[in-house]
Amino acid sequence: MYEAEKAAVLNTALEIKKCGLVSLSGGNVGLRADAGRFLVTPSGMIYEEMTPEDVCLIDEECHVMEGRRKPSSDSEALTYIFRHMPEVGAVIHTHQPWATAAGFAMDEIPECLVTIIDACAAPVRVAPFTPSSAVGMGVLAVEYAGGSRAVILKHHGVITFGADLKEALYAAVYLEEGAKTLMLARMANAVVPPLDPELIAREKAGWETYGQ
Ligand SMILES: [Zn+2]
Repeated sequence: MYEAEKAAVLNTALEIKKCGLVSLSGGNVGLRADAGRFLVTPSGMIYEEMTPEDVCLIDEECHVMEGRRKPSSDSEALTYIFRHMPEVGAVIHTHQPWATAAGFAMDEIPECLVTIIDACAAPVRVAPFTPSSAVGMGVLAVEYAGGSRAVILKHHGVITFGADLKEALYAAVYLEEGAKTLMLARMANAVVPPLDPELIAREKAGWETYGQ
């Protein structure tokens, strides 16, 4: 079941690896399959060594419905997010270094760059530390989302959400690019002024028609 969706989950996992958002087997990708069932990447597997059959189909209690692998150790957090954010179809968790570093420098990444405005939809808040491989990650992600497609987990990494895998992927990759730019500007002691909300709204309207 869900062959195309499993391949899409794996392709997204390979993309976050290629973009430098995770190393080795870090992070995970989750996709809502149908009511109460989700596809998640397996625990502790190198993405380049995975096949679509390694992607696990799990239920809301993280029981494996299909697949030969143990699901991601963050599955409890992923299913919590899916259960509490019904509009979300895909969740990505990364250890992306620039955004995580920004999480030590500020409480929120402001809408100061078009990439962040477009892909994240709202300022990206920094949630306090909570241990990994536990539901707390999901609880904090939902609590700190605030309309954004991304949350920074302090001392850990990032969780992004989207209606689909592409939206969650754009949020993760563009957040990293934006966080890097913002951190470099701060290191140069540059002033990064807040943008006019009216211009931010116009930027978002333009993003709605971006692409093919
Ligand atoms: Zn992690």
